[in-house]
Amino acid sequence: MLKNLPTTSQEIIAWTWPAIEPYYKELEARPLSDSSIDNWVADWSSVGERLDEMYSRLAVGTSVNTADKEAEARMNAYLDDIFPNVMAAEQRLKEKLLASNLQPKEFEIPLRNMGAEADLFRESNLPLLADQQKLAIEYDKIFGAQTVNWEGEEITLTRLALNFQQSDRPCREKAWRLKADRQLADRKAINDLWQKFIDVRARIAKNADKPSFREYSWVQRLRFDYSPEDCKSFEAAIEKVVIPAATRIYQKRKQDLGLGTLRPWDLVDGWFSRPAPPANLSQLKPFATIDELKSKTSAIFHHVDPVLGGYFDRTVSEGLTDLDNRKNKAPGAYCTSYTFIRKPFIFVNAVGTHEDVMTTLHESGHSFHIYETANVPYVQQLAVPMEFAEVASMGMELLASPFLTTADGGFYSESEAARARVEHLEGMILFWPFMAVVDAFQQWVYENSKAGADTAACDKKWGELWDRYIPGVDYSGLEEVKVTGWHRKLHIHEVPFYYVEYGLAQLGAVQIFGNARSDQAQAVAAYRKALSLGGKVTLPELFSAARAKFAFDVLTVKKAVDLMETVVEELEKDI
Ligand SMILES: [Zn+2]
Repeated sequence: MLKNLPTTSQEIIAWTWPAIEPYYKELEARPLSDSSIDNWVADWSSVGERLDEMYSRLAVGTSVNTADKEAEARMNAYLDDIFPNVMAAEQRLKEKLLASNLQPKEFEIPLRNMGAEADLFRESNLPLLADQQKLAIEYDKIFGAQTVNWEGEEITLTRLALNFQQSDRPCREKAWRLKADRQLADRKAINDLWQKFIDVRARIAKNADKPSFREYSWVQRLRFDYSPEDCKSFEAAIEKVVIPAATRIYQKRKQDLGLGTLRPWDLVDGWFSRPAPPANLSQLKPFATIDELKSKTSAIFHHVDPVLGGYFDRTVSEGLTDLDNRKNKAPGAYCTSYTFIRKPFIFVNAVGTHEDVMTTLHESGHSFHIYETANVPYVQQLAVPMEFAEVASMGMELLASPFLTTADGGFYSESEAARARVEHLEGMILFWPFMAVVDAFQQWVYENSKAGADTAACDKKWGELWDRYIPGVDYSGLEEVKVTGWHRKLHIHEVPFYYVEYGLAQLGAVQIFGNARSDQAQAVAAYRKALSLGGKVTLPELFSAARAKFAFDVLTVKKAVDLMETVVEELEKDI
């Protein structure tokens, strides 16, 4: 047993490398055997879970008050002094464990991951990975510097995008064209950057003895349970059964908006997927205060499951939420883990919109994962693959959706709730074809090293994929904007291959929702059981514990889409 480890949150955030280092030294020096391995892993974990909580607490400290200089200084000290030392020390312990050939209890999956990471590791790749990071910063810089003059004022494209939600179509078009022109002005810069990305990635793959960066990424993303071919099957299934459903949504919206064709500025985000809401429906105003957001969300979760409702109440009463939007708060939303005490922290920037309700449900889904894994012994068993982590959150959005009405203590009238749910389900259907474009494009880029580095060929490929998967929107006269769509998808540049995870998680979430429609108690019990496994089992095993199939085939996708369309049809009667 390691002695004198910090136990209070104050002690944990004040930890220093000179205080931490002796624990790692001791663990590194301790001889391993069949009889000592479990204690050794438990001790390693007790250091790791505190460091995990330390990082979370520091990150929360900087994001709840971006003007807090002390919090910032603490975070910087952590990143400069503690983080690199911990990474190196963790690596040595992983190597020690692998070299011992010993297997702690329920450690197959963590060992599998550590082994794969060790195999992929090359000293020679460290500077190249750093170069890749620097290129990502360049990419952010190009987009961050983009502003436009809108009605006499210099504004960012994020602010400009608010106009895409306007009911005035000429205004939407004007804003859309302004954004498109501004982004096209950086076409050459993004193309130049892309060639550098491709070049550095080819070298990373070669150093790691992988045939291409795709094979490298597969291991790096710890994708043991599916192949690039599976992703292609998924995309073929999407083409076969999701595109017709997406086209029906576009058709319907065209009629609602009274339009002959749907143009890109008729989509809510101005680029893809969700059409702008019909003008005659007023914006939803679900809550006026944060207390109202909390109490109504709690009522909804209690309907989903009393235990989950209880978790949310504890999160709130123990001060583990920060939900309101205010000055000096970081943007966005997240749920992080205080891993030593096994509690979540939920961060949202709520201003009173329906999005805020959905975000709170989503992040709470992640928080339930943290409660359900409270009994998983070791921090190394807590790494849940993204493909399933998002099932917890997206699944909760859907499980909570039947209880959004005031009759259940929620936010909306019957008709408002129906409208919100239709938009949610349609948004999910429309996401899949977009995801397919992003994934298929990347597969093609790294399968065809020469063409993938040729930006004109990339434009052509993206345009083809776009026409194939998103046929419902008319881009005539806007071809240049259409073919450069890959420029604007951050993931393609900064986190290659990271995207199909969302599509797979969504498929799991819809299946859980389907289960709940026939047996709520059984579906929620399976959901909770699957969450409680943490990262101790494989991805297909996590899905099957949740009574969902980890699958890529037409039948599974069709069942999901049919269900979603059926529910939309039911709900439309209530609007
Ligand atoms: Zn999430």
